[in-house]
Amino acid sequence: MTRLALRHGAVNLGQGFPDFPGPDFPKEAAISAIRANRDHYAPTGGIPELTAAIAEYLEARRFPVDPRQEVTVTCGCQEALAATFLGLLDPGDEVIVFQPFFDTYPPCIVMPGGVPRYVTLHPPLFEFDAEELRAAFGPRTKAILINTPHNPSGKVFSRAELELIASLCQEWDVLAVADEVYENLLYEGEHIRIATLDGMRERSITLSSLAKTFSLTGWKIGWAVAPPALTDGIRRAHRSLTFSTATPLQCGAVAALLAPDDYYSELRAGYLRRRNLLQEGLERQGFEVFKPSGAYFILADHTSFGFADDRIFCEYLTREIGVAAIPPSYFYQDPRLGKSLVRFAFCKSEEVLLEALQRLEKLRPSS
Ligand code: PMP
Repeated sequence: MTRLALRHGAVNLGQGFPDFPGPDFPKEAAISAIRANRDHYAPTGGIPELTAAIAEYLEARRFPVDPRQEVTVTCGCQEALAATFLGLLDPGDEVIVFQPFFDTYPPCIVMPGGVPRYVTLHPPLFEFDAEELRAAFGPRTKAILINTPHNPSGKVFSRAELELIASLCQEWDVLAVADEVYENLLYEGEHIRIATLDGMRERSITLSSLAKTFSLTGWKIGWAVAPPALTDGIRRAHRSLTFSTATPLQCGAVAALLAPDDYYSELRAGYLRRRNLLQEGLERQGFEVFKPSGAYFILADHTSFGFADDRIFCEYLTREIGVAAIPPSYFYQDPRLGKSLVRFAFCKSEEVLLEALQRLEKLRPSS
């Protein structure tokens, strides 16, 4: 879609990266680290200053962890996912995945021989059916993957939902892998780490990164937090995948995690404004919008415009209207489940969102 957007000069609300720069304070720290000749391999778990900063960040959020034995710095959350599954799955192990999903999940599970089992989140609220979830657990289940706040729907898993997942994990002796990269982009509800629920500490792997919280997607600094025995598996995989992550950028990450509280509230307020702008504009244009409580995407239903599926709609939108979006059928095992949907990213400046909305005025509902 990005290639198509470039070809047609479309405003790109497809790919999920901010069109504005990250803050200066991590950059200054990374530049100082380069000038101070921090040129060589970091320890495989991460530089001690960063693992300590991650532990402090989590402790301030009521999740105390041991920086030496429980934190691994990775090449973005993406490598944290790969290292977790490579390090902890045996061939034939099943992993429960909610769909729609972030598209890297199935390959990360399949590469080490794992088998994804899909449970559907149903619009408008992207809730799951408790019976369907229960039926997905079985003797081969090794892990369940939870992404909250969720890409692409913006769903924030509720305490009741996470407690049900937690009780099933304990009943079936299953690990919980929590992808929390959007943890600071929250507009409604509460961000709950499944690792902090009763009985879950020893069976949870918590993954996150700098990318979304600090608008530094290109830095690829992420982390995996897990009890020592699980961290051992993750680090073995990480050692063979990338060994360690860029040292000066890890120094920059330390400065990022020292951000004061108002950094986080301003980030959230800016995204809330952008969400409301895009949501209201899409509703005015006749989309049925599924309002996101977190992350920086909006899923909407495009069926009132009369197109056969999401791909055809997104191609038309890019070519004829000049706005690129993502066809969500890519985020489902069965593409038919996503064919009435379209995903717009709102991690863009307000001028870009307004320009996109102005172009969308040309879109007419089918009669
Ligand atoms: N998880 C989710 C749900 C994401 O949306 C993304 C980025 N699009 C990632 C993980 C990857 O994060 P990182 O850039 O830190 O590798």
